[in-house]
Amino acid sequence: MYQTSTAQATLHGNRVIDLRSDTVTRPTPGMRKAMAEAEVGDDVFGDDPTVKALEERVAALVGKEAAVFVPSGTQSNFLALITHCARGEEIVTGRDYHVNKYEAGGASALGGAILTPLPLDGNGGLTPEQVVEAVKDDDPHLPVTRLVSLENTWNGRVQDQRAIERIAAVARANSLALHLDGARLMNAAVASGQSPAALAAPFDTVSLCLSKGLGAPIGSVLSGPADFVRRARRNRKMIGGGMRQVGVLAACGLFALDHHVERLADDHAHARALADGLCGIPDLDVDYPDSGTNMVFLTVRPEQFLPLRDALAARGVLIGGRSPLIRLVTHLDVDEGDISRVVEAFGDAWQALGDDLRQRSVA
Ligand SMILES: *Cc1c(COP(=O)(O)O)cnc(C)c1O
Repeated sequence: MYQTSTAQATLHGNRVIDLRSDTVTRPTPGMRKAMAEAEVGDDVFGDDPTVKALEERVAALVGKEAAVFVPSGTQSNFLALITHCARGEEIVTGRDYHVNKYEAGGASALGGAILTPLPLDGNGGLTPEQVVEAVKDDDPHLPVTRLVSLENTWNGRVQDQRAIERIAAVARANSLALHLDGARLMNAAVASGQSPAALAAPFDTVSLCLSKGLGAPIGSVLSGPADFVRRARRNRKMIGGGMRQVGVLAACGLFALDHHVERLADDHAHARALADGLCGIPDLDVDYPDSGTNMVFLTVRPEQFLPLRDALAARGVLIGGRSPLIRLVTHLDVDEGDISRVVEAFGDAWQALGDDLRQRSVA
């Protein structure tokens, strides 16, 4: 239905606006230049200066001793979980967190860890009481609880830092380690005005994605204590994640940290404007909370999801999510003008659904 090319997809001469995720961004010319000029070496031998620079940069950014560069956020979280936990040990996490829902059960399937997922509150948080209750007694019937794994942002929502600190206190009191899936931690930092180091301070380890809103084509960084990172590096090699002249990719991460952090505020403003615009369409159930960053959610009836998605695609707008929840994510390749185009396309597509289907929205 739409044409993809090495540049950007177009439909009837208009650029397609892709809101499926903030992972769809293409490297900018400046980023490609940084790749081309990157100094490289064999990183498995510790010889790649650009990878080293990125690892040091991110470790300092999130206030940890050391860091290791990995291809994906999933690998970063996986390494964190299996480096914290031996086989048969337990991870307390949120039911709808990425580590539980969207990482193919890797920590359990490959690492032998036991994930105990707890229900989240409306903003995506857990309470200290839930965590305390989940911690197992020292009893041979039960796994040893080892780790609490949280996520910030969750579904684009900045988490309550005081609640996180209270969970951290509970974790410490029970000798548990604490991991943060901070795939979009920079969004949380920019939106809250707090430094990433302050947001990551309660945690032992933190995973940051460079390939989400920061616009790199690939890459995540796992940070933590030097000894932990040394063990994670061995685990990375074990699963085949050692990389060679990968400074060409680390250069993208460094470029992203130099040029694409402050501009996340634009993504957040665009998401808010999008939510406001969509609220003007009668019967659409729009969700953009005060804690929101670059994601807008809409709930529709299950039978409306596919027709609406197709009607929008026919108008050059790609949407994400899983029925009945639509997810719209703003990013580097979406500008202010695109927001009005999307609102207009939604109005038209919603109209095109027909009165019958439309009036059965949940609102
Ligand atoms: C995208 C994402 C990941 C995983 O990143 P990949 O690079 O896609 O493997 C982990 N956690 C969260 C919260 C994410 O959004």
